[in-house]
Amino acid sequence: MSEPLLTIAGLSAGYGAAPVLFDVTLTVNKGEIVALVGSNGAGKTTLLRSISHMITARGSINFAGRELIGLSPEDVFAAGLVQVPEGRQLFPAMSIEENLQMGAFLRRDTAAVARSFEQMYALFPILKDRRRQAAGSLSGGEQQMCAMARALMADPKMLMVDEMSLGLAPVIVDQLLVVLADIRKAGVTVLLVEQDVFAAFSVADRGYVMETGRIVREGPVAELAEDPELRKAYLGVA
Ligand code: ATP
Repeated sequence: MSEPLLTIAGLSAGYGAAPVLFDVTLTVNKGEIVALVGSNGAGKTTLLRSISHMITARGSINFAGRELIGLSPEDVFAAGLVQVPEGRQLFPAMSIEENLQMGAFLRRDTAAVARSFEQMYALFPILKDRRRQAAGSLSGGEQQMCAMARALMADPKMLMVDEMSLGLAPVIVDQLLVVLADIRKAGVTVLLVEQDVFAAFSVADRGYVMETGRIVREGPVAELAEDPELRKAYLGVA
């Protein structure tokens, strides 16, 4: 039986007077990887920002049985809903280790935090080798790994990853997709926003397609990938 972890209903949001999201409804079940895809400017990042409460939204965002609308971004983070932002947004002058430590800033159990460090270095061995290196001096792929590890250091129930593959070589994207599958195995639910639909669908269970601020399609990725319209629009194949 699938158990919803994140349930969004009738959500609208925008920037100032400009509306961007209209009546968005989306569910992520516990243990799932869900892909949210759509063209440039469709509103995917805006939806993640609404869920993280970086911007104000109207409607309902229920997470682990609790209504989040009205809470602060800090409360949402503390509830276990953590975003890996587009563009990584690391602290460039800080080392990898210090960036990871920042992710764990709310945790008081130092033994558990030490275990999380070991888990992150097992998941991303390159980060262990370079742990004293400034995050700003890492390659794009290493920065993405560091951003994902920093988010995981919060011990989240759910990770929201925005444009993980942006600007990265296919071989690095493949490595990160394997890591996402490992993260899910470790019990973390994932909402993945991607323009690389092939990559997203290769790892996700279900997908949602967003166009101009509205969800226009949803279903198991195997079904969506067979849909002739979507294949033409997003996969570039007939
Ligand atoms: P992309 O994949 O290109 O990032 P997206 O689907 O994530 O696209 P959003 O970044 O959510 O789309 O943008 C949706 C709309 O909101 C766009 O029209 C964009 O111009 C607008 N928008 C995004 N951020 C802001 C902002 N800070 N202020 C005003 N408008 C914004």
